[in-house]
Amino acid sequence: MSVSNPTDIAEVKERNRALIQEVLEVYPAKAAKRRAKHLNVSEEGKSDCGVKSNIKSIPGVMTIRGCAYAGSKGVVWGPIKDMIHISHGPVGCGQYSWAARRNYYIGTTGIDTFVTMQFTSDFQEKDIVFGGDKKLAKIIDEIEMLFPLNKGITVQSECPIGLIGDDIEAVSKMKSKEYDGKTIVPVRCEGFRGVSQSLGHHIANDAVRDWVFDKAGDKEPTFEPSPYDVAIIGDYNIGGDAWSSRILLEEMGLRVIAQWSGDGSIAELEATPKAKLNVLHCYRSMNYISRHMEEKYGIPWVEYNFFGPSKIEESLRKIASYFDESIQENAEKVIAKYKALTEAVIAKYKPRLEGKTVMLYVGGLRPRHVIGAYEDLGMEVVGTGYEFGHNDDYQRTAQHYVKDGTLIYDDVTGYEFEKFVDKIQPDLVGSGIKEKYVFQKMGVPFRQMHSWDYSGPYHGYDGFAIFARDMDMAINSPVWSMAPTPWKRDDGDSYAIAAE
Ligand code: SF4
Repeated sequence: MSVSNPTDIAEVKERNRALIQEVLEVYPAKAAKRRAKHLNVSEEGKSDCGVKSNIKSIPGVMTIRGCAYAGSKGVVWGPIKDMIHISHGPVGCGQYSWAARRNYYIGTTGIDTFVTMQFTSDFQEKDIVFGGDKKLAKIIDEIEMLFPLNKGITVQSECPIGLIGDDIEAVSKMKSKEYDGKTIVPVRCEGFRGVSQSLGHHIANDAVRDWVFDKAGDKEPTFEPSPYDVAIIGDYNIGGDAWSSRILLEEMGLRVIAQWSGDGSIAELEATPKAKLNVLHCYRSMNYISRHMEEKYGIPWVEYNFFGPSKIEESLRKIASYFDESIQENAEKVIAKYKALTEAVIAKYKPRLEGKTVMLYVGGLRPRHVIGAYEDLGMEVVGTGYEFGHNDDYQRTAQHYVKDGTLIYDDVTGYEFEKFVDKIQPDLVGSGIKEKYVFQKMGVPFRQMHSWDYSGPYHGYDGFAIFARDMDMAINSPVWSMAPTPWKRDDGDSYAIAAE
């Protein structure tokens, strides 16, 4: 059996199961037993991927997960552009994650928008000993003085805030009163909560519910409602993704009254409960607030996938099905309008990418949502896994996305991922910055699938053209054969290569 390129599905499954056993063998028995539950091979007809998820990582392994603070500040709240988000606690948590994502926005930074700025309470020893509430109050005063056009403030708690028992809710309420009812949101997203950034998403969603929606109450909308009002939820506008999605909805005749968090504003958050339909891109991070709006305001929500023409078409029709025939007809017109573009992209890139294999390891929805885009280009995803997925993510993956025999890895460790890639030798790995250089040094083409490797957008028809170009550029670059893997050099001198 060819290990690197088995063609028969039974052989693929056998190879993948053997690989799982091989990686587990290096662990102590207890760790192997725990990790075994997170690794599997997909079986056709099964309703899930057969892996356990959303469980605490094993101490000592290199997990790729983030913390609850990262989930709230870095994902849900951070991109709300006209609010100032205070990283409350020591400087490091915010500083090291500062500007790590690429949430594009329109506005003048430092004047009326603040996404790429870093605000921190910079906790010192005395703040831990005596508490940081006074400091927080002072920072809010400074923010109001220095950035008077901000439309609201959030307090993103880092670990020590929960440990020392600061009352950020009391400070937020006091300051909100002092500043004419300004929205000031305390977020209890201390990093130690939960098992990954996923709980931070949930906590952040709950803070939107309690401190934005409930505060706005039954206020009349500041705009004339229409039957076609929709809100885009859970698109973070990485490289302009939300913009390339919004265009399609507007071309269908829908009116986008809010888009968040990417390029979102507090006014859009407040307007969302007036939408007729919430269209949800990242289910994992924003399903909580969508369910809440369904229960409290009766707004239906629908998941969509705008990666690659096949899934875009499916999603446009699904969204249109919530509206009347005019919107459904418009959806067909939009699909027809972009046919020539997608055919040209596929005609150009498919011959260069057909049959190429991909292994993914990402967060949110991408481990499943991008599979269709690769398949539109004739490529095959042979392994995938989530950083912080839950059972419902793996169910969606099994039922709608992966092929029989795909290797599935939840919360994969650094060791496991390297071993899997080394043995399977895919033509491309799509993962994050922490994995990028390991695989590139192994000579495996790589695309960063969190930030689109500083490219993008990848959503929508415009995004598909860029996606196809980027994958081709990575895979078919001649560089891979020119840079030998340092640890595989005959002379074993891994440093010499850097000097050459
Ligand atoms: S786990 Fe705590 S200390 Fe570490 S980055 Fe998250 S909030 Fe900061």
